[in-house]
Amino acid sequence: MQDAPPATPAKTTSGLAIASLVTGLTCVWPAAIICGHIALSKIKKSSGQIGGAGMAIAGLILGYLSLALIALWVITIVTVGAGAWKKGSERAQCIMNQQVISAQLEAYCLDKNLKPGDPLEADEALESGTNTSCPSGAQLVITPVVPEQGQPFVSCPFEDGSGHSHSLTTEYDFGDSSVDMPATEE
Ligand SMILES: [Zn+2]
Repeated sequence: MQDAPPATPAKTTSGLAIASLVTGLTCVWPAAIICGHIALSKIKKSSGQIGGAGMAIAGLILGYLSLALIALWVITIVTVGAGAWKKGSERAQCIMNQQVISAQLEAYCLDKNLKPGDPLEADEALESGTNTSCPSGAQLVITPVVPEQGQPFVSCPFEDGSGHSHSLTTEYDFGDSSVDMPATEE
């Protein structure tokens, strides 16, 4: 008859079951889960001498619910953070690629003494292996002609909205006559 359900009400209520319910209600989920499991184990072994199984189960449910919500919250934070990091990383790499291209093209134009509007063959001007792509999935747009001063050599299709822009515009006026005729002013 030891395993039979008790015919009389339990003599005492498990303190751990109460603790589990209280901590479960206040979202102290580790305590709720631990207390709930110990309480259920002791209640089961007591053969009806200790009551409070309902409270222990309620505490366990609340404890695991809190744990699940926290896990969901952490996953969300990590996912959002990783996405933002990836975007920032791609933007930084894109701008770096543009800076490398711009520097090479500017040096090429100075070397060849090209003027604004002159055809500019990127394949010929850029060093082999130069990365001309945007990590976000696009080819950078390289001007087909030498730009005027203040205009960029290269731009990214994602510039608008994604911040793939840079302030690196051409500093040199390739058409500046000072290259051939140095300024005379003292
Ligand atoms: Zn880009």
